[in-house]
Amino acid sequence: MAVPKRKTSPSRRNMRRSHHALSVDSFQECSNCGELKRPHNLCNACGHYNGREIVAVEA
Ligand SMILES: [Zn+2]
Repeated sequence: MAVPKRKTSPSRRNMRRSHHALSVDSFQECSNCGELKRPHNLCNACGHYNGREIVAVEA
């Protein structure tokens, strides 16, 4: 079995993990109600997607 010759130093390990941070979710305005929503997702506030009401939301 192939085995690493040296233990990964904390510096190397941390450099590898420098790319692991999660970015903040992006948001767009809903074209129907103007509420912020995730792109390509149903609007949580009014239940619209692509100009149509998909899920009925009671006020
Ligand atoms: Zn909406």
